[in-house]
Amino acid sequence: MPSGPADPLALALERHFGWSDFRPGQRPVVEALLAGQDCLAVLPTGGGKSLCYQLPALVRGGLVLVISPLVALMQDQVSQLQRRGIPAACLHGGLALPERRQLLQRLRDHRLRLLYLAPERLQGEATRQLLDDVLESGQLVALAVDEAHCISAWGHDFRPDYRRLGQLRAQCPGVPLVALSATAAPQVRADIIRLLQLRRPLIQVRSARRTNLVYGMQVRPPDPLPLVLAELGASRGAVLIYARTRRSVEQWAARLTGVGVEAIAYHAGMDPESRQLALEHFQLQPRPVLVATVAFGMGVDRSDVGLVLHLDLPASPEGYLQESGRAGRDGELARCLVLYDSADRTSLGWAIRGVGAQRQQDQQRLELAQQQLRRMEAVAEGEGCREQALLLAVGELAAACGRCDNCRSPRESRDWSVEAHQALEVLELRPGRDLRNLAEELASAVSVEQRQQQEASWGWLLRRLAQEELLSESDDGAQRLYLRASGRRYVRQPWPLHWAA
Ligand code: ADP
Ligand code: ZN
Repeated sequence: MPSGPADPLALALERHFGWSDFRPGQRPVVEALLAGQDCLAVLPTGGGKSLCYQLPALVRGGLVLVISPLVALMQDQVSQLQRRGIPAACLHGGLALPERRQLLQRLRDHRLRLLYLAPERLQGEATRQLLDDVLESGQLVALAVDEAHCISAWGHDFRPDYRRLGQLRAQCPGVPLVALSATAAPQVRADIIRLLQLRRPLIQVRSARRTNLVYGMQVRPPDPLPLVLAELGASRGAVLIYARTRRSVEQWAARLTGVGVEAIAYHAGMDPESRQLALEHFQLQPRPVLVATVAFGMGVDRSDVGLVLHLDLPASPEGYLQESGRAGRDGELARCLVLYDSADRTSLGWAIRGVGAQRQQDQQRLELAQQQLRRMEAVAEGEGCREQALLLAVGELAAACGRCDNCRSPRESRDWSVEAHQALEVLELRPGRDLRNLAEELASAVSVEQRQQQEASWGWLLRRLAQEELLSESDDGAQRLYLRASGRRYVRQPWPLHWAA
């Protein structure tokens, strides 16, 4: 396909989204859907899966029906589309009658481009009728099943509701169906094709592996400045430093400037003009150092970023892959360093909780966010290959990278099953203890001089047990601990747990 100025797909991409190029894997999927072919698109998180089904709706001026598992995520997408002026809506049980009527009217008038549905909706008679009407009206361009791995019991997120989607293919003959996921495990891929009954699908699989990135993760020293300066000294090209809050972004930019490193701050709280200046500085200077919150990144494409440094634990493996992925786009070696502290998860957890969880969908979002945080902490505290662990967390199987800190200098590990058993046994008798308190009690057997160090060590062990999903934490912020079913099994019959302290 040509990609010159006369290329209609490139023009549509530019017109509706303002982007000049497709990301790898996007164009073939869009083309296949426009040609009426089923697709399986396995693109890494942040790879731009949603565009694959959004663009066909816009190019055709028709409707694409999107099945997606979480109301919260659907609403995020809908508001993103609306901000771009693209008519989109989400049909869910929480809609009031007038909203619902309005939605159906827009549908009848062929005014919607994207309609999002939860899988359980497909069961209802009303939705089936709606599907029939939409089919009959001829406006349906494609069906999209997002997070399609939810259909597979092999996947990390099996949802029985997804099994119903197997009928979709037969119900809508002549309309192409695209299944999308970031989970590339072969068994899951096969399940998606089989259970969704995809017909001779185009298969697009792109790995999230980046063979020129060198990951490292370490505990943040009390004053990280000397370490940060050493990293800056050893880096090439542009440098991106991520801090969690706007305040720490500003403090760090000031601190670095104070020691002679010209560092520019960037966060969403700055006025548009300063933000623009910061962006230009980052794009144009030979070796810029930018300190930013994760808000930074959209639309910035500097290929020679040689160092991406996180001053706090990132919020999720998905997010981290995306942020670290801004390093080394030129293919040259680049370093990705995370500094973390065991307190980060608690403070981040508080920040997440601060959003509030009055509604059920907020509750879902909250649980998801905390699970992601736990997974990220497990990668940081873990002794395995960083890249492998990050990819596993997003569902991709890969060999150890051979480049990261853990690959290059494996840490001594030992079996912690005796201590794990002891801690879980105490918790089984008295569930709901908070982590600090329990660590104190477990450490009370040793002499006073050793106690502080012992408490830290038990705290670490309890966190590892949570990462290992043997115990769960209350999400009210108190870090109260409970045994999961697997934890109870562990108390009856322990198994080895090889960890490096
Ligand atoms: P995924 O669902 O695969 O994780 P998204 O569809 O949410 O990814 O897209 C990730 C980000 O990439 C979004 O901010 C999106 O706007 C952006 N994006 C997608 N396609 C392109 C493109 N061709 N050019 C630039 N940005 C893009
Ligand atoms: Zn590695």
